[in-house]
Amino acid sequence: MEDNPRLFINSRYCKGCGICAAECPVDALEIADTMNERGYFLPRELDMARCRRCGMCMLMCPDFAITIA
Ligand code: SF4
Ligand code: SF4
Repeated sequence: MEDNPRLFINSRYCKGCGICAAECPVDALEIADTMNERGYFLPRELDMARCRRCGMCMLMCPDFAITIA
């Protein structure tokens, strides 16, 4: 069986806007409830078994900070 997709965030680019999680059609992502060292709430995997690899999160990120692989 194929492995679940994995979420990669470039924390140097991500500003924690939440667009990626909001645009995911299957709610595979969520915004973390803890800040990173830059004071941003970054997205994280919620349930990647739901991910369809549609690419919407990557396309919608205004800062090119998210990759699904
Ligand atoms: S690739 Fe699509 S389904 Fe997967 S996390 Fe991103 S928006 Fe959601
Ligand atoms: S859309 Fe991009 S900048 Fe915004 S929270 Fe997601 S990865 Fe970070």
